Amino acid sequence: MKDLYPKRGANDPGNLDLELGRYERAQIPPGPPPKQEPKKRVWNFDEVFLGYDAEQAIVEATRCIHCPSPEPCILGCPVHNDIPTAMLLIEQGKFVEAANVFRATHNMPEVCGRICPQEILCEGSCTVAGYDRAVNIGKLEAFCTDWQRVHHGFPQYDIAAPTGRRVAIVGSGPAGMAAAEELMRDGHAVVVYEEWPKPGGLNVYGIPGFKLSKQILAEKAAWLETYGVQFICNTRVGKDISLPQLLDAYDAVFLGIGAPIGNKARIPGENLKGVYQATEFLVRANLPLEDLPQRIRSRPEIGKHMAVIGGGDTSMDCVRSSMRLQTQAGMTDGVVTDYYRRTENEMPGRAEERMHAKQEGVKFEFLVAPVQFIGDENGHVRELELQRMALGAPDASGRRSPQPVEGSNFRVPADVIVLALGYSPDPTIGDSMPDLEKGWKGLFKVETEFTGATNIPGLYAGGDDVRGADLVVTAVAAGRHAARAMDDYLRRLETPFKTTVAANEMAQPVPV
Ligand SMILES: Cc1cc2nc3c(=O)[nH]c(=O)nc-3n(C[C@H](O)[C@H](O)[C@H](O)COP(=O)(O)OP(=O)(O)OC[C@H]3O[C@@H](n4cnc5c(N)ncnc54)[C@H](O)[C@@H]3O)c2cc1C
Ligand code: SF4
Repeated sequence: MKDLYPKRGANDPGNLDLELGRYERAQIPPGPPPKQEPKKRVWNFDEVFLGYDAEQAIVEATRCIHCPSPEPCILGCPVHNDIPTAMLLIEQGKFVEAANVFRATHNMPEVCGRICPQEILCEGSCTVAGYDRAVNIGKLEAFCTDWQRVHHGFPQYDIAAPTGRRVAIVGSGPAGMAAAEELMRDGHAVVVYEEWPKPGGLNVYGIPGFKLSKQILAEKAAWLETYGVQFICNTRVGKDISLPQLLDAYDAVFLGIGAPIGNKARIPGENLKGVYQATEFLVRANLPLEDLPQRIRSRPEIGKHMAVIGGGDTSMDCVRSSMRLQTQAGMTDGVVTDYYRRTENEMPGRAEERMHAKQEGVKFEFLVAPVQFIGDENGHVRELELQRMALGAPDASGRRSPQPVEGSNFRVPADVIVLALGYSPDPTIGDSMPDLEKGWKGLFKVETEFTGATNIPGLYAGGDDVRGADLVVTAVAAGRHAARAMDDYLRRLETPFKTTVAANEMAQPVPV
């Protein structure tokens, strides 16, 4: 098997005689990356972070003190990016070389540089964080890979000689895209099936543009296409074509279908007009209408009182999108409120996103849980009934569990309610193959996350459909691991080549 994470050799900066010593480096003040001002940014869906310029990036990268091996930041990064080497190259103004260091272990460094929860990953492990703010690793990763992409384009790769083997990838999220890129580089013919009109998964159809520009994903997909990866969009596996058909026509299949089903509140009034699931609300708020399927090709409703239920990153994406919709509609007396059943201390999302939401004018109501949604005579939601909660003993997640306070119900006005209550896997594909082993809630069971091999030979899975709703970087890692195991499997395969069925023929709906 090839080495996914090549070891650092003689260039290990930990062994270098650095011009600037560790003490001097530690004295350099942190340079937070510039952002759009809150008053300005609520008028647009553009990225809040404006990115470093070259001069700022060089200073920030020089804050890296180049810890001796094993470097904590490398261990803290799920794809084990060689961060210190990249920092040294940025410090020397070698931005393209630094970008290539990130690309050696990561398929979407410009994405994760923007949206990884760095404070619990690479930056959370950074030694400098012990006495000052951690080196802004993520924003520097985004800076150098953007620099390369904008000034030079994605790098040209040497591709292995064609193997004659064909692989189908189901889902074009970070897991599927990473697997597609790696398998393409290994010389296999890759076809990606995607249900949404455009490739990208939640990076496009979920995460708002003010956190991540969609342009990056469009460029990435176009670049993969130049190397022969085919994207067949608007095609749902399990409906337009079945998984057994794919297994029959391809030498191996990777399932990267995510965990796309929004959890329900399971309370009265959930089906009233004006009540949205988070993903539908976000894609209708954020994306150009032409990128949406016909059935949801319009903006979501905008109300004077917009309520979001939930405490994770998705809820922050929803409140911040609501603020932007109200502002753009000229609603000067609009109110956007996030309702969460624990306190801010227990909120699972990023503190930075909460801070952004507060700066943008979002209100928060803690220790409350929804009881019912109340509609008007036209079946449209108008009020939200809540019950106050108190924190009890810690639950399985280690967080104190909310307990209802008897007799504390109260109502608030709400013309639009968005449910951001977490995500579950879609059981459709799994149900279509009873022999395929499933685990908790129908997540695919794999041998280990380092292979992604299911119990069906030639069928692999990874990302949120194995781990449950998680992160872009862990999905990329899963796609890379599975691709390595699939390459190994395909090279050992002795069955005849399956060249008879063209990819575009496969996309035809299955005759009933
Ligand atoms: C609103 C929101 C905000 C988030 N913010 C962050 C963040 O800031 N940072 C972070 O790291 N993570 C974030 N996440 C989580 C992150 O997006 C996911 O963990 C990651 O995208 C999972 O990647 P994946 O490839 O497994 O699945 P997905 O990205 O979900 O991709 C799966 C793809 O498969 C397609 N698909 C599904 N079923 C079928 C089928 N039957 N046939 C064909 N195609 C199918 C889907 O349409 C989708 O395109 C966020 C998630 C959400 C919902
Ligand atoms: S991928 Fe994420 S964890 Fe790894 S270096 Fe980049 S920002 Fe940090």
